[in-house]
Amino acid sequence: MLQPADPKANYLAHADQIRAAIDRVLASGHYILGTEVENFEKEFSLYQSDGFTIGVANGTEAIELALRALGVKHGDAVATVANTVTATVSAIEQIGARPVFVEIDPVTLTMSPIALADVLAKNPDIRVVVPVHLYGQPADMPAILAAAARIGAKVVEDCAQAHGAAIGGRKVGTFGDFAAFSFYPTKNLGALGDGGAVFTRDGKLAGIVRQLRQYGWRERYVSEIHGRNSRLDELQAAILRVKLKHLDAENATRRRLADRYLARLENAKLRLPKVVTGQTHVFHQFTVRTPKREALREYLLERGIGCGVLYPVPVHRQPAFADAGLLLPETERACAEVLCLPCHPALSTGDVDRVCDEILRWTTT
Ligand SMILES: *Cc1c(COP(=O)(O)O)cnc(C)c1O
Repeated sequence: MLQPADPKANYLAHADQIRAAIDRVLASGHYILGTEVENFEKEFSLYQSDGFTIGVANGTEAIELALRALGVKHGDAVATVANTVTATVSAIEQIGARPVFVEIDPVTLTMSPIALADVLAKNPDIRVVVPVHLYGQPADMPAILAAAARIGAKVVEDCAQAHGAAIGGRKVGTFGDFAAFSFYPTKNLGALGDGGAVFTRDGKLAGIVRQLRQYGWRERYVSEIHGRNSRLDELQAAILRVKLKHLDAENATRRRLADRYLARLENAKLRLPKVVTGQTHVFHQFTVRTPKREALREYLLERGIGCGVLYPVPVHRQPAFADAGLLLPETERACAEVLCLPCHPALSTGDVDRVCDEILRWTTT
């Protein structure tokens, strides 16, 4: 059975190094905010270029803490997209802020800068814009930053699916005021449990997030601001330090598998993901589109090929968030049509060929 993601295979690929890292932490006697977290933060900052990384409990809280550090408060408006995991939106709602959904670009399936400019003109009270680098595909950051700057809005990049993705060689997460990463086990950089990080190039903002993640402390036992507990633990940090060393090679494998899919499915009756010139797509998902999505999903499942659907229902159409009046036709169409084919570093070219053979058989019947 081929799976859309395989965190166990990824653990096994690095098992010796991971077990050694876990043993090191167990023997250290230090399990929260020690040298592993500190070193992971340094190493991840270097990976991003130069800046500050703050390890936190998960990706959702990474977004929330970034928004709080930018001063987002109850009742404020925050712009984002609706074809994301609800986590992006729950982070906004944790603060009591109001999500304003922006239409996507039909080709990249990321936030449309044109739609954003329109939304910002109609809602000049929007404090922060949260684009999502969905499926490992960078959003159009230069255009989004320009639109946000026009009304003085800040930008938090949701990088949960795009560790290592880049625009013109510059990593995503280095464009906005803040970036939020998730290390959920299936992400391109995944822990063996929950984890997340906030990245920023602004030392002052980094200091605020550092306080927010631990009770608002600047020094121990003295809360200078209102904070909470959102810490990355030592075990996960030690595991992430191992996995970070393999991230670029694994992203290269994902790209190689994606190239194979693109070449073999060129003439299949499917819409294929587009690699934008000058961008580095890291293929967290290889997402095709067809109006017959459910039929293709069933067909492949019957043949031992499990696919993902990220995401079947846009956030503004989900019961908890329902906004009946809001129409986002491109977003709704994408959610109805997307199918994520197996694409992760444990797959072989032969696996991809098997998926392609089945798809080609399906599209010609
Ligand atoms: C995974 C994910 C999150 C949430 O991360 P958690 O670590 O599960 O809280 C947020 N946004 C996107 C786009 C994600 O894929």
